[in-house]
Amino acid sequence: MHDVIIIGAGPAGLSAARWCEELGLDTLVLEQAEDVGGQLLSVHNAVENYLGVRAANGREIRDLFAAQTKDCDFDLWTNVELDSIDVKAKRLTLRSGEELQSIAVIIATGLRRRTLGIPGEKEFVDRGIIESGARDRQQLAGKDVCVIGGGDAAAENALMLADVCPTVTLVNRSRKMRARREFTEQLHTHHCITVFPESNVRRIIGKDRVEAVEIERGGAIKPFQMAVQGVLIRIGWMPNTDFIRGQLELDENGYVIVGSQQETSVANVFATGDVANPLAPTIAGAVGAGATAAKVIAQRLQKK
Ligand SMILES: Cc1cc2nc3c(=O)[nH]c(=O)nc-3n(C[C@H](O)[C@H](O)[C@H](O)COP(=O)(O)OP(=O)(O)OC[C@H]3O[C@@H](n4cnc5c(N)ncnc54)[C@H](O)[C@@H]3O)c2cc1C
Repeated sequence: MHDVIIIGAGPAGLSAARWCEELGLDTLVLEQAEDVGGQLLSVHNAVENYLGVRAANGREIRDLFAAQTKDCDFDLWTNVELDSIDVKAKRLTLRSGEELQSIAVIIATGLRRRTLGIPGEKEFVDRGIIESGARDRQQLAGKDVCVIGGGDAAAENALMLADVCPTVTLVNRSRKMRARREFTEQLHTHHCITVFPESNVRRIIGKDRVEAVEIERGGAIKPFQMAVQGVLIRIGWMPNTDFIRGQLELDENGYVIVGSQQETSVANVFATGDVANPLAPTIAGAVGAGATAAKVIAQRLQKK
């Protein structure tokens, strides 16, 4: 029996764990990945808006967090597969069969990239499908590429790739781009970039590597194939809440609904960071919410 079990070791989970330790709570952190840090490991641009730190990328901030929590007196289990959770009872079962129980639970499971679910999307990861324009664009230098999405991330990546690629085709399922105006203006005037609005990529095609995409274009009768050697998919994020669906109040997009103390609809169950913050996900927000949940739990347990 632990005082607190924290699910997820991104900025929110690590911050909550650090605070729980300071407040004398017996704490266990469960992380499904091999390593802690969450989305920070996917941030390949400089991060200059987290106060007190200027970092070349997210990993640098992750390393600072990991160094500060390394010797802390809480248990951290990585590579953990959660099989089920009874949220009301605060009882968790791991895929290994192990059962865990706590007085309070903090859900800090963050977000994952939305996927298209089309043929070729999984098969060609790192074989033409790249993770990041900032990190991987040299791999695609001199090649024709397709970027899928209509928001800031898709637009920014298309512009980055256009610096090194002869053609960049941006496929957006809506009529208008959602990206900020500064990006869309550059997209429409860039000589290498073509935007296909109201269009969808239906398949990513190739033998060993990406060779083409099949596009269904708004207004066209038939899908057509376009030769490309690179693909980058940026169609947004979704909260990691499948495992608690039906047990906690979620909004229509699956984010956990919380109050000002990060409390959820179930007593002594808290949610912190991006998983409960659809409007303003940030490192600072995640770290702050983790601290709030830990302090509230400590106050409640002391009262008991
Ligand atoms: C490209 C990019 C650039 C960004 N730039 C900035 C920036 O400049 N400034 C800024 O403030 N923010 C930035 N962010 C956002 C910032 O990274 C997030 O707001 C922050 O990481 C959220 O932390 P979190 O702990 O809530 O979630 P996450 O970082 O998503 O961490 C969640 C953790 O939970 C784990 N997990 C999920 N499900 C389970 C489960 N069932 N069991 C166990 N573990 C689980 C995940 O593996 C992960 O480690 C950026 C994000 C991206 C992707």
